[in-house]
Amino acid sequence: MIRKSVQNLTPYTPGEQPKLAKLIKLNTNENAYPPSPKVGQALASLDFERLRLYPDPLCIRIRELLAAEFNCNIDNIFVGNGSDEVLSLATEAFTENDGTIGFFNPSYSLYPVLADIRDAKQVEIPLPASSDELAVLSKNTKLPDLFFLTNPNAPTSTIFSLEAIEEFCKNTDSVVIVDEAYGDFSKQKSATTLINKYPNLLVCRTLSKSYSLAGIRLGYLVGNTELIEALYKIKDSYNVNMLTQVAAIAALEDPEWMKENCKRICATRDRIKQELRNRGWFVAESETNFLWAKPPAPLTAPGVRDALRAEGIIIRYFSQKETAEYIRITIGTDEQMDEMLKVIDNCK
Ligand code: PMP
Repeated sequence: MIRKSVQNLTPYTPGEQPKLAKLIKLNTNENAYPPSPKVGQALASLDFERLRLYPDPLCIRIRELLAAEFNCNIDNIFVGNGSDEVLSLATEAFTENDGTIGFFNPSYSLYPVLADIRDAKQVEIPLPASSDELAVLSKNTKLPDLFFLTNPNAPTSTIFSLEAIEEFCKNTDSVVIVDEAYGDFSKQKSATTLINKYPNLLVCRTLSKSYSLAGIRLGYLVGNTELIEALYKIKDSYNVNMLTQVAAIAALEDPEWMKENCKRICATRDRIKQELRNRGWFVAESETNFLWAKPPAPLTAPGVRDALRAEGIIIRYFSQKETAEYIRITIGTDEQMDEMLKVIDNCK
């Protein structure tokens, strides 16, 4: 009764959402600060009787706001129920039944699951060590039908240059989705600036991180109209609910709030990166709202995870070979990060 690939599927494991009262939650890269108060006002003033109606199936107002932000047309924008939905629909639209889906390792651990759900062959490529390595990759390698390129990357927090991304897209006919879930925490320009040059490029972004709205589920793609149209053909009629649309519109109308929060988070991130380095940790350069860090011996990554957890602080640990020596720490408030440092200082 159940399709074979679903029977055999190892599902995606999201970071936990425990219900403990006193908890410092640094495990799922949510924003440490609340969304714009305008979001609260918009939801409070929504006439609840309107909920008997279906929402706008095409999210026109949201797309107008995004088109203004990215200097493109609303036909260049697809909006979905979180970027996870958008990424999943892309596997339906851009891969044949015997097709291939590629991604780097390590990167976002949802991609292999999406490939398995789609019954596509996974093409896993080791994460290039530099922008130069990325730039030559598609010259020397035939890419799969669809390639997910996370930039800045998760969980490593590092970024490839826009020039390297451009080279990567230039030398292939494959659809390349640059996943910029963490793009607003980076100083680099978005790959959305390249969409008119590369018809095979789509850029995926989300309100979950920089806009502090993981709870509403709103993600989108920016790219060539032909690819965007294909996604509109296959989506659920009403894939973005009315409450989400109301909240997203209010948030997008107040980008300054988001930018202030990002600035605060980046300042805390850079401070904590230095604090950990002063303690002998390896900490990757970060263009995101998290740090990718390896404790010095005799400390171990799972040991630090357990010590933090015992004090009600949760971070993310990925036990597979490539990532087993590192922990991923979401940037919280300054107070939360100082609590974390205190526990680390007591780790033996
Ligand atoms: N892409 C990356 C790289 C992510 O880390 C995440 C968050 N887990 C997502 C996409 C999904 O974001 P959303 O909340 O919009 O589904």
